Amino acid sequence: MLPSVQLNFHIRAFCREGCVKEALHILLTTHNPFVGSFTYLHLLQTCSVKKTLSKGRQFHSWISDRGFTSSTNRFLQNTLINMYDKCGSLVDARNVFNLMKEPNVFSWNMIIAAYGRHGFPPEAFTLFHQMQRTGIQPDQFTFSIVLPVCVSMVSLDYGLQIHGKIIKRAFQSNVLVLNNTLIDMYAKCGSIQTAHELFDKMPQRDVVSWTAIIAGYAQNGLAEKALEISKQMQLADVRPDSATFASILPACGKLGALEQGMEIHQRIIESGFLSDTGVTALIDMYAKCGNILKARELFDKIHQPDVASWTAIIAGYAMHGYSKDALKVFEQMKHSRANLDHVSFLCVLYACSHAGLVDEGCQYFKSMSDSYCIMPTMDHYKCMVDLLGRAGYLEEALNFMIKMAIKPDVVMWMCLLGACRSHKNKRQGEFVATLLFQLDPEISAPYVLLSNIYAEVGRWADVLGVRKLMKDKGIKKIPGCSWIEVHKIVHVFYVGDRSHPQTHEIYAELEKLSWEMRVAGYIPDTKPVLKDVEEEEKISLLCHHSEKLAIAFGLLNTTPRTTIRVVKNLRVCGDCHTATKFISKIVAREIVMRDANRFHHFKHGQCSCGDYW
Ligand code: ZN
Ligand code: ZN
Repeated sequence: MLPSVQLNFHIRAFCREGCVKEALHILLTTHNPFVGSFTYLHLLQTCSVKKTLSKGRQFHSWISDRGFTSSTNRFLQNTLINMYDKCGSLVDARNVFNLMKEPNVFSWNMIIAAYGRHGFPPEAFTLFHQMQRTGIQPDQFTFSIVLPVCVSMVSLDYGLQIHGKIIKRAFQSNVLVLNNTLIDMYAKCGSIQTAHELFDKMPQRDVVSWTAIIAGYAQNGLAEKALEISKQMQLADVRPDSATFASILPACGKLGALEQGMEIHQRIIESGFLSDTGVTALIDMYAKCGNILKARELFDKIHQPDVASWTAIIAGYAMHGYSKDALKVFEQMKHSRANLDHVSFLCVLYACSHAGLVDEGCQYFKSMSDSYCIMPTMDHYKCMVDLLGRAGYLEEALNFMIKMAIKPDVVMWMCLLGACRSHKNKRQGEFVATLLFQLDPEISAPYVLLSNIYAEVGRWADVLGVRKLMKDKGIKKIPGCSWIEVHKIVHVFYVGDRSHPQTHEIYAELEKLSWEMRVAGYIPDTKPVLKDVEEEEKISLLCHHSEKLAIAFGLLNTTPRTTIRVVKNLRVCGDCHTATKFISKIVAREIVMRDANRFHHFKHGQCSCGDYW
């Protein structure tokens, strides 16, 4: 029999090395009754870290047999709850908790956190209320546990309740942490304004507070504001960390703000936070800001790309219309160590659908479940409908939707309606639109698409009918807008916009361009103008589409021969697409346009999408 000191020493040594099996073996085979209780804690901790549930259970029953877990040994029980929680068994954690005679605030916090983490927010709340009924007051940790629970329920009401309780308690310490969690809660529960007010009132702010408010704006889709605050943060001389960068980079990507993205790239390098995850975020940013070459350069520097980085570059190629490259990288990924997942398949399907590669797309879709046991989700089905619809296989797309394992949703029907519009199929278009009016009468897109279909075949009476229907129901169309970043400032334009200080020059530039374009053989395509107006007027409306205004502004304010990058919130219209091809040739510039669907690289009078978008 080993002496106690030596026994404890051996067990703990194995624990330190993470060898749960060996440590447990010594314990289970010893006949020495004097094993220290600290050794037990070491073992439980190691089980938690290694997440070995079976070993944890084995050990639990061993100590129970010896009477160590009597309901009064609170410390050991708390550690058991923690172990089961970390090993993923909420049931076991709850059983230990239920047997406790007098759980303290620490035990309550642990079980509430466990329920929150395992995806049972309402139960976490029930426990939170139960705890207070038993007379135990929540502490700061309890609040920082329940606030994220409100976030996972997206419940501002609960969040407000908790905030009220926090105010009443008037905590003196850890206030900063609590305030940061509150900002995060308000931002994620959709009340970014309250989050900002709270942020403004904070007597002291740290990098977490700044990051929470930046991420809040970025999550709420207010990328411009997120970048603005990140500049204030820089002025306030607060050093950003990797979490801050992780929230700013997607904001740059969303805006297509390449200059600011590059500046942040520089700052990341200087701060030494450039991890592989960071590189993946940069690949994504560069791809979304239109610089796919830089994205590839960064990808090539990663020693062993993981799923996320492979996916980022495939998605990048796909959205730029470089489908062959996307497929090539996907094939390389298949043979790499990274496992294919549903996102990588989604990207490759997207690439196929944007290049009209119907056969390839169908094969990939089939291989997903057949060879990789990945069940298609709604997004994959949508991609397939898009693939078939874009290529003009409207009947096939409809049949595919009917046979799907999932019930098609509004977005999918919209996708099919969009395809009906592109292929000018009035009959199927009317059928799908009627279905959509019933499914969701509130959204404007099906009305707009249907009226587009009618306009394209010249049925103005039907166009007016749809318009009237929209008006009667109070449905408004989303206005199209385009923006361009020049000298780190984003300029936004709407159709016929005359609010910009440089309006005169912009319109004069467009006038000049449209003359040069006509000389070069451009004929305005008036079909997308959805108003039953005279031809002349239609043309003038066309000339002042937001994307054209943004391009003209770009031409006026950037150095000759540099690339112009424009982003549009909706799909680029057919006429602007043709016009931009002409402009790229006349001014000898590359124009990169990101629309709601993809990227268009206009160069020497051609577009990378091959007019397939
Ligand atoms: Zn247009
Ligand atoms: Zn194009």
